[in-house]
Amino acid sequence: MSLSTTIKTPNVTYEQPLGLFINNEFVKGAEGKTFETLNPSTEQVITSVYEASEKDVDTAVKAAREAFEGSWKKVTPSERGRMLTKLADLFEREIETLASIEALDNGKAVTMAKVDIANAAGCLRYYGGWADKITGQTIDTNSETLSYTRHEPVGVCGQIIPWNFPILMWAWKIGPAIAAGNTVIIKTAEQTPLSAYCGSWLPPGVINVISGFGRVAGAAISSHMDIDKVAFTGSTLVGRMILQAAAKSNLKKVTLELGGKSPNIVFEDADIDNAISWANFGIFFNHGQCCCAGSRLLVQESIHDKFVARFKERAAQNKLGNPFEGDTFQGPQVSQLQFDRIMEYINHGKNEGATVALGGERHGTEGYFIQPTVFTDVTPDMKIAQEEIFGPVIAVTKFKDEADAIRIANGTNYGLAAAVHTKNVNTAIRVSNALKAGTVWINSYNMISYQAPFGGFKESGLGRELGSYALENYTQVKTVHYHLGDALF
Ligand code: ADP
Repeated sequence: MSLSTTIKTPNVTYEQPLGLFINNEFVKGAEGKTFETLNPSTEQVITSVYEASEKDVDTAVKAAREAFEGSWKKVTPSERGRMLTKLADLFEREIETLASIEALDNGKAVTMAKVDIANAAGCLRYYGGWADKITGQTIDTNSETLSYTRHEPVGVCGQIIPWNFPILMWAWKIGPAIAAGNTVIIKTAEQTPLSAYCGSWLPPGVINVISGFGRVAGAAISSHMDIDKVAFTGSTLVGRMILQAAAKSNLKKVTLELGGKSPNIVFEDADIDNAISWANFGIFFNHGQCCCAGSRLLVQESIHDKFVARFKERAAQNKLGNPFEGDTFQGPQVSQLQFDRIMEYINHGKNEGATVALGGERHGTEGYFIQPTVFTDVTPDMKIAQEEIFGPVIAVTKFKDEADAIRIANGTNYGLAAAVHTKNVNTAIRVSNALKAGTVWINSYNMISYQAPFGGFKESGLGRELGSYALENYTQVKTVHYHLGDALF
């Protein structure tokens, strides 16, 4: 198989690299193995790409190590910043192509994919701005000593990303790592290997991009003895494995951005029209494939029936279908496996005694499409109210009062995000303070900014991505004490 192929999407025709990008070169990998990637709208093969083996991870780590100890050290922070800014410009120039690749390989609506690319560019530019503003402190310890800290890069970073926002997750990971002066081996998800940016004008070895499977390439990254840090976004199950592998190997630093079962709470005094729109966007955006999806809708009992009736109407209007059509809101789920998992949860909900108020079935006969599904009469102990479904399925539960809402909202093992809808400022602040979640939206949902941190409480993760907080994951603090006087002892 060659190292690139021409791909036609309904919007663009482009040349797709198929190799592993190691040391600024596309290569076929040590074993020359390949795997197929499918179009989830049609279930047809798009192309095959090369698969990274353990040996390829090793080669990429060596390249990243060499760059880190050598050429990359000589690049000034401002130059690093400029490189990220150039990358951001390139994403913006290539927005049509990149969004089309996402629509083809992931199935997301092309209009939404464009928002992803714009945010990816924004994120890279934001971290480009940080690159020459990472500073330590001078600390007054005593008159004989000059004490100061340096915020040094951690070193070689392994980054493992998921399929739900392929290029956006790439930018979230690459931005802070490069800004802080690290080198990177990034592994794309096996379902969506096509959009990751590969070509590079950075020194060889600084960014290495590999496609491959979690249990092979992913496991090789998390247990590698010469990777200093691993950053992972994906399921809680795999997050645990990565933490274990890090502990068993070289105690590499670990950050994890994992699953969620986020509550979206609507109080009786909320602006109902707005709350309905946000609840709809909260769960059905990206076909429910968001770690922070508002998958539990908690509605105050006094407005419950009216609210649910109108929410159903709103959800039924979401246009399902071909991601390349401009008015499509919901495309297919990413894979047969995800489709099957979601359908299994839907069946479980039916068997547990929840009511299917909307949807609950496959949409069409081709592709992994699932109808927007609304379950009502859901009690907090049900499986569909406790476990992450990662699909277009929302569980609606009634609550009595504020204390009841907080108790139900906090009653899962997760703590990624939450939202409160109310016009009462005191209620909004009191409840958001009481919620065990890394992000709380008041009167909105899914509004993530690359300037503000994102991450989970409880089993939803370790550490924070985005904002200045992410830089802490990619730097380590060195304290230097410079003694000015004579020997003391
Ligand atoms: P999902 O179940 O939604 O596909 P995963 O957590 O399995 O989510 O996948 C997210 C990322 O983690 C992907 O890049 C995948 O290849 C990778 N991955 C899966 N299993 C492992 C593993 N055992 N070790 C390291 N990475 C893994």
